[in-house]
Amino acid sequence: MSHHVSDKNQVHRTMVVDTLKMVGQVVKLAGWVDTKRDHGKLTFIDLRDRTGKVQVVGYQKMGELTTESVVEIIGEVKQRPERMVNPDLDTGYVEIDVSEYQVLNAASELPLPIDTDGLEINEEVRLKYRYLDLRRPRMQKMLSLRSQYARAVRTALYERNFVEIETPILTKSTKEGSRDFIVPSRLQPGKFYALPQSPQQYKQLLMTAGVERYFQLAKCIRDEDLRADRGFEHTQIDLEMSFVDQQEVMHTVEEMIIESVQAVGGNIQQEPFPIYTYQQAMEEFGQDKFDLRSEAEKKNGVLAFAWVIKFPFFKQVDKTDLAEVADGKSGWTFTHNPFSMPLPEYVAQHLKGENVQQILTSQYDLICNGYEVGGGSIRAHQAEVLRATYRIMGYSDEETEASVGHMLRAFELGTPPHGGIALGLDRIVMLLAGEKSLKEAIAFPMTASGKTAVMDAPDSASPKQLEELHLQLATK
Ligand code: ASP
Repeated sequence: MSHHVSDKNQVHRTMVVDTLKMVGQVVKLAGWVDTKRDHGKLTFIDLRDRTGKVQVVGYQKMGELTTESVVEIIGEVKQRPERMVNPDLDTGYVEIDVSEYQVLNAASELPLPIDTDGLEINEEVRLKYRYLDLRRPRMQKMLSLRSQYARAVRTALYERNFVEIETPILTKSTKEGSRDFIVPSRLQPGKFYALPQSPQQYKQLLMTAGVERYFQLAKCIRDEDLRADRGFEHTQIDLEMSFVDQQEVMHTVEEMIIESVQAVGGNIQQEPFPIYTYQQAMEEFGQDKFDLRSEAEKKNGVLAFAWVIKFPFFKQVDKTDLAEVADGKSGWTFTHNPFSMPLPEYVAQHLKGENVQQILTSQYDLICNGYEVGGGSIRAHQAEVLRATYRIMGYSDEETEASVGHMLRAFELGTPPHGGIALGLDRIVMLLAGEKSLKEAIAFPMTASGKTAVMDAPDSASPKQLEELHLQLATK
């Protein structure tokens, strides 16, 4: 087929960044009207696409264009005279002399400004119009950073022969210390699925399945009391390994973190990561999440990772926390994870349920700049150890069976010793981006009151839906 530039349908779209090397050529660009300046007979716009901005010089009629409208233009790339060069723009040496243009979608007045960093704008407004909010350069950079970081994590794990595997979202309760979100079953009246607080049980079952090295970037859903910077769901870099001890898991995770953080230009304070026992941390910092950076390092965006180990396995139930009350029927509940293995020297007393407050777990937490960014443990892979944990929490044999009978069964069918970790992807990206709120690291986060971004959920269900689900709303 013959190729003729003046037939605009046959000119391929050029990306803005490429116009620099196309002086003298006619190009077709498409994107958003970033800014517009009317100068009588001439109209100047900065046209923006995902690669950048370029100045476009058009005739009077282009004065009709509103900012953030989507346009396609055809024009010649011209070298700017020396005194007109704009050093602030990557494409500042050129401009496009428009011959034709077409409005693909006209934008009306914007409900929020997008030429600032956005932090000054009310959260509800930002999230209602998140698709606009994400157009600001700061947010575009964040989306790209998150993607690059996730890729670096995958690369580091694939290089170590981890297998990426998805696990179900409609499942049975898996305890991570929060309330469950439950989903009514239409086909089994009166029964409910729970959304996973983590893939904990499935990843352990993948070890039973012989996978040996599993990972997933997993959505975890927890009905927690909302804090200003977090919603009900988060993403974890979730992994599990077979035939390993605590040091091997920590070492693998540390290598992965260092490689992935450095791959996106992050600056790590200390390698290997320092290790504190829970007791040392409490004595030195008064808490198990601490910040090891100097003031100068804080300014320079340094990431100070550290491990915390040797946590108490159990804690006394906080009576104001309904999830803890439900889990800890005896008044004792787990500090981190009921599926953990006590440290070897405490296994005997764990099995007997003696001196519960002294038992230490194989838990390891990774912290960074004062935040917990991950936690994991060596798991109980023998049925009697998991049974003992539930007994200490006050579960009868029947209650344990109903809760984790499937795990106990798997532990009688050749489950290798194993351990793993889950790292908070949102939190790591937030720290890498130098942001202060997790919401800045998530494309569509929830509002502080638990409403979804853009779409107004939770929403009511129709009487028909409720009927199908065998549900009736209790009237006050
Ligand atoms: N389930 C995780 C783990 O120990 C911890 C978590 O989800 O917070 O691997």
